[in-house]
Amino acid sequence: MSSVFDYSGLLNEVVQECRKHAERGQLPSYIPELKKADPQMAGVAMMTARGLFEAGDTRQNFTLQSISKVFSLLVALERRGVEVVFAKVGSEPTGDSFNSIVKLETSEQKPLNPMINAGAIAVCSLIPGASVEERFSLISGLLESILDRPIEIDEAVYLSEKETGHRNRALAYFLKDINGLEGDVEEVLDLYFRQCSILVNCADLARIGMFLAAKGINGAGTPIVSANAVRLVSTFMVTCGMYNGSGEFAIQVGIPAKSGISGGILGVVPGQYGLATYGPALDRKGNSVVGISMLRRLSDVLDFSIF
Ligand code: GLN
Repeated sequence: MSSVFDYSGLLNEVVQECRKHAERGQLPSYIPELKKADPQMAGVAMMTARGLFEAGDTRQNFTLQSISKVFSLLVALERRGVEVVFAKVGSEPTGDSFNSIVKLETSEQKPLNPMINAGAIAVCSLIPGASVEERFSLISGLLESILDRPIEIDEAVYLSEKETGHRNRALAYFLKDINGLEGDVEEVLDLYFRQCSILVNCADLARIGMFLAAKGINGAGTPIVSANAVRLVSTFMVTCGMYNGSGEFAIQVGIPAKSGISGGILGVVPGQYGLATYGPALDRKGNSVVGISMLRRLSDVLDFSIF
């Protein structure tokens, strides 16, 4: 693309065109607080070497949810090392939904990958620290050094999930039983629910995407995590970042991406830009309908598939 390409014009067009697809999706019902979102919202942001471009509801805050799995994995890889992490979690896609319990017993006795809930909970248990606060500060600190601002959580979402996260609780206790989880189960769950409740908007997510696109270097040019950790995490984003929708997404969009149940998607075009979309209505796999359609459209126009 030439340096004068009108990214703002393109993003505006894409939001207008794709917003209508919200009718094809639904708000998640299993975390009561998330049902309060406005399904008509749609935002898209792109962080490039030329700066931030955005269109639609890009300043609406939402919780990271599963997108947080990217950051706890980065912290665990950096603090505990590749071997310790892969002793507790595998690296294969599951083909099942993100909160499925079924393969835990029938496969290798460890979660198949760190992007499903079971895997992310196992990864959370590896984050070092004397208290949940101390462990959480490693995750929030990573985000603070990328975004250069303090991180907050949505207290209501955190409490809602803590109260109703029965399936995550079941996954965590099962993991404990098979020696898949370090430390106290309730503390690990608390950390997981906190990281899921971190508040961001599309503009933040696009910056984070650019940080990953730049192999772990923040906007000020400071290396924050190793290029190898970013490589591993980006690979998981390609193979498992959209759960059991990852294969179709790789064909249609073709970039490392991670979705969350509150409707955000973080996208990375390696070496080029960070992308972010928001649209709370979800498809049956738990991915944002509007977000995927916006990313498909952008991939068609900008031809950024890595494949
Ligand atoms: N907090 C959510 C859960 O644990 C995250 C899942 C998601 O975003 N897909 O169920």
